[in-house]
Amino acid sequence: MISLRHLFFQHIAQTSHNPIALEIQKAKGVYLYDNIGKEYIDLISGIAVSNVGHLHKNVVNAVKKQLNLYMHTMVYGEHIQSPQVKLAKLITDVLPQSMDNVYFVNSGSEANEGALKLAKRFTGRSEIIYCKNAYHGSTHGALSVLGNEDFKNSFRPLLPDTQQINFNCEQNLDKISKKTACVIVEPIQGEAGVITPKKNYLKKLLNRCNEKNALLILDEVQTGFGRTGKLFAFEHYNIEPHIITFAKGLGGGMPIGAFVAPNYIMKSYKKNPILGHITTFGGHPISCAASFASLKTIITKNLIDTTKKEELFKKLLKHKHIKEVRGKGLMLAVQLSKAEQVQKLMELCIKNGVIIDWFLFCENAFRIAPPLIINQKQIKKACAIIIKCLNQI
Ligand code: PMP
Repeated sequence: MISLRHLFFQHIAQTSHNPIALEIQKAKGVYLYDNIGKEYIDLISGIAVSNVGHLHKNVVNAVKKQLNLYMHTMVYGEHIQSPQVKLAKLITDVLPQSMDNVYFVNSGSEANEGALKLAKRFTGRSEIIYCKNAYHGSTHGALSVLGNEDFKNSFRPLLPDTQQINFNCEQNLDKISKKTACVIVEPIQGEAGVITPKKNYLKKLLNRCNEKNALLILDEVQTGFGRTGKLFAFEHYNIEPHIITFAKGLGGGMPIGAFVAPNYIMKSYKKNPILGHITTFGGHPISCAASFASLKTIITKNLIDTTKKEELFKKLLKHKHIKEVRGKGLMLAVQLSKAEQVQKLMELCIKNGVIIDWFLFCENAFRIAPPLIINQKQIKKACAIIIKCLNQI
């Protein structure tokens, strides 16, 4: 019989020469299990998605319950579906009061596409400003605001009228002008290797946007839902953006994204033309039911406060090859010196039952973003394995 592995390489589109190709049989809590029953501690949550852990019972039960009622009925925004409405109410309840309107989509890329279009539509302007080393997705619009030439150059022409600024550079803020529709930024840059904003940078960015009547879009796709030690990363920096985008950890393991804005902005999608953004599967009832259960769990079980876990990782990850462990909450980057060390370490860690991962734009660091439910014992075990593997590189 042809093996699954063989068929995977034959029929699943490959986007790299060396996929990890771990044959997953099941996943539970912080663990993944392969086809021979070997257990792996998942330190990346695939990526920053399974914040409540794999197959959390609340999420599973919510999915099962909704499966007995209905799946897809009609494209977004036409039928009143209780999973969508309940989720929108919960999300808007935990956001600042002005953020009262949710548009559900399928992914982080689509959330950013929807947000960028909305900003253009609302302001009547076309210029979009983004940051160097930003990652906002892989579709054409999102790629146009991705801050790394290697990843976008071969796909030109992309959106015109975009400008790159340096993250954390206050001088660059004067590029935001009366021509600017919006600035899109991650509150903590993920793929850049977990780069936190300098004190007051985001506040100054927001002020400049307000001065020029440009909108600030915060991409919380990776940072959202407890990942950084607050429910949302913007809460660390005392700012209220104009549009926020979500995905990944929003769904508790199911695919869903969203962009959220005040009604006075979102309503621009109703006219000139009507149906300013259309999506068939956005806000799928099963995904919304899972998402509601996941967000409720994060809040009621207080999975948000990860201070002790962050401290433990930072304390235990000490080694001559480790230059720095940076980040907030359970969104951490461990800085080594060379990309080859990271690749070797990833291989060794997988052999030894720990899953870590690299960053798109910071190849000499590796990422730690485990499910928020990870406990002290599991952290100790995972770190001991990482240190043991570091001794071998
Ligand atoms: N924004 C950020 C900050 C991300 O990290 C990602 C995914 N890595 C995306 C957007 C795109 O999300 P998706 O892959 O769901 O399209």
